Amino acid sequence: MSVKCSFCNREAVYFRPYSGEYLCRRCFSRSVVEKVKRTISKYEMLEHGDRIGVGVSGGKDSLSLLYILNGLAKRHGSGLISITIDEGIRGYSWDAMKLAKEFSEGLGVEHYPTSFKEIYGYTLDELIKLRDEKGMRASACSICGTLRRKALDLIARKLKLDALATAHNLDDMVQTFLINLMNGDLEKLKWLKPKIEGFGIKRVKPFSELYEREILAFSYLNEIPIFDKVCPYAREGIRWEVRRMLDRLEFGHPGVKYTMLRSALKLGEGIEEERPTHSCIYCGMPSSSRICNACKMLLSLGVEPRPQEG
Ligand SMILES: [Zn+2]
Ligand SMILES: [Zn+2]
Repeated sequence: MSVKCSFCNREAVYFRPYSGEYLCRRCFSRSVVEKVKRTISKYEMLEHGDRIGVGVSGGKDSLSLLYILNGLAKRHGSGLISITIDEGIRGYSWDAMKLAKEFSEGLGVEHYPTSFKEIYGYTLDELIKLRDEKGMRASACSICGTLRRKALDLIARKLKLDALATAHNLDDMVQTFLINLMNGDLEKLKWLKPKIEGFGIKRVKPFSELYEREILAFSYLNEIPIFDKVCPYAREGIRWEVRRMLDRLEFGHPGVKYTMLRSALKLGEGIEEERPTHSCIYCGMPSSSRICNACKMLLSLGVEPRPQEG
């Protein structure tokens, strides 16, 4: 016997543990899109006519974000451009790039490809080699994340975008929250905000309040391709373990991730946003200190940062 949708009479395909709702294919997809719309308006993320860049890695989250924003942008007269950064991870980045390009073009969205090699002169693999030679402890994810953030900023300036949307979901945010707590990086909680403005471009996370599990179901039900390769560096660092721990907690206590997100955002509110009070002496990009985070990272790896046109 099949279970009926809690909202209409169709067959349910999804159970939402934290609310106890059963949802059919249509009601589920609608609820996800509605949730994204609510998040966008709650945090005043986007305005009519905004030129929006979407960071598209090729993973299910970013493809789903592009898919949903494309549907919304059409109704709001907003321009959308999909941005993919090839990190240069052997056996991984190239396939991700290909999928991001094909999916974007299939939606009729302009695709803008770039790479770490092009911007920094090194691939992530080359930087990890330098890290290992130096015996440094920074995880691949933290190096990659810092360089990706800056790369997106650079492109956003180059393309004169109003907003930069990334597909960080509720799970990502809560993982980062716990990792920051464990590392004593309380000031980094300000990065967790669903919307950050300080640098002239709005950085927004429309999936902030969406569970990763729901995005996975959404992509499956909407025939969004699922990139099945796992980044070879994914098991480095503590994030992998934090993720497993949180999943176990959520299984036993549905809704606990959401409550943790609320706490993280509350704590973040008290921390002042960074303001670009300097131009980085190496790359020239706006920065809250003399040397921006990305250039600091490169210098610690023994790489001379390149000046960038901003
Ligand atoms: Zn229904
Ligand atoms: Zn810099």
